[in-house]
Amino acid sequence: MGDWVAELDCLHGQHVRHRPPFRERPWVTTEAGRAGRLGSGLGCPLCDRAELPDGLVVVRVAGPFDETTVPAGLRRAHRVAGGTWGRLVVLEGLVGFTLETEPRLERQLAAGDDQAIPPAVDHHLLIDGPVRLRVEFLSRP
Ligand SMILES: [Zn+2]
Repeated sequence: MGDWVAELDCLHGQHVRHRPPFRERPWVTTEAGRAGRLGSGLGCPLCDRAELPDGLVVVRVAGPFDETTVPAGLRRAHRVAGGTWGRLVVLEGLVGFTLETEPRLERQLAAGDDQAIPPAVDHHLLIDGPVRLRVEFLSRP
């Protein structure tokens, strides 16, 4: 029998199995049980690893910005809207990036590096030198 796949706001699909005694999710076996779970959070390990879902396309590009034109909001905690992923692409220089996943992701991106950003997760950039970067927004076509 096939497993049910929850379609999450983050655009990942998550298999939800009822396989006692390892996976106790009796709600998944009935229509009413599944309907009752719509809109509730499942928690997404793929988002915590910032893994871009398959099949997304770039719908908008912001930038390129340099250290003088990068919007101030990007340096403070902010979020990509639900149903949309971001992708930070560093063209020149070094950019620090923090993503408040579990566990928190912190990395330094250099020219040619990029970083996927899941929807609805706080993140911010740290810029203290000359840079050029752009931010792509991706969604389902
Ligand atoms: Zn996800």
